[in-house]
Amino acid sequence: MNPLRTRHLALMLIILAVLAVVAGSVTHDAPYTPPPDGGFSHRTDQNGSIPGITVKNGERRTHTEPPLILVHDVTPYYFDDLREIVAVLDEYNYSDRTVLFVIPVFDPDHYGNEWSLKNHPDFVGYLRELQLRGYRVELHGYGHTYHEFNCSYETAKEKLDNATALMSSLGFDNLTLFLPPAWALNNESLKAILKHNLTIVTTDWLIFPNGTQRRIWNREYTWYIERNEVEDRLSVALHDYRKAMEQGTPFYLSIHPGVINYGGGLDFLREFLDTVCCQEKS
Ligand SMILES: [Zn+2]
Repeated sequence: MNPLRTRHLALMLIILAVLAVVAGSVTHDAPYTPPPDGGFSHRTDQNGSIPGITVKNGERRTHTEPPLILVHDVTPYYFDDLREIVAVLDEYNYSDRTVLFVIPVFDPDHYGNEWSLKNHPDFVGYLRELQLRGYRVELHGYGHTYHEFNCSYETAKEKLDNATALMSSLGFDNLTLFLPPAWALNNESLKAILKHNLTIVTTDWLIFPNGTQRRIWNREYTWYIERNEVEDRLSVALHDYRKAMEQGTPFYLSIHPGVINYGGGLDFLREFLDTVCCQEKS
């Protein structure tokens, strides 16, 4: 082997070694990414409480159920926006296909306890009323501060203890789902959430308390869209929905109060529900 080639080889080995060390230290704190083989190969039938999903022995099958709507950031801070969203969902009797992901104490770093559910009995009453009408109330962090659940096991545990205790004191027991703020998680917080017997909702997976996973399609199409963008976003969403149905993957539509209320967002929601609900009937 010529000496130049040997030197190249040696250099490459050194680079590879350095990369391996860097990768090792990065993945230690990296956000949790479930392995690609999860979902279908595992039994998930012990988790019958997941809304809209009836899974038997993890089998793959064509999925014909209408989409679930996941409303993020449910807090009195967005009370008026939430009412507008609910009005659209009610037009399509969509309460039992909608999950409200509640923030118990919205952004205490900025607002202290101002937006704690405890200080807004009118909003809590509204949530109860929605729950009675079929809407499902679940957990979306504790304070929803920046990447709140990219934290240690102990911090995550403490936040979850506080969150579930506060929700329970207001009559919201039996929480089963957890949607991490900004999708931020790591392996430590993930363990704490599952230990709390909560199923984690990510953009591509449901992760059940026993560690098994199920593939889902969970996307948001209404991030501050203008009125003239509705048709484009709608065609993308419906294309995704049909593809997910063909693959037997449950389809979740994520929406944000305050965001979907802008521009053409609620028109999108109305037209989307109009299409999927009419498809159901025919
Ligand atoms: Zn959020």
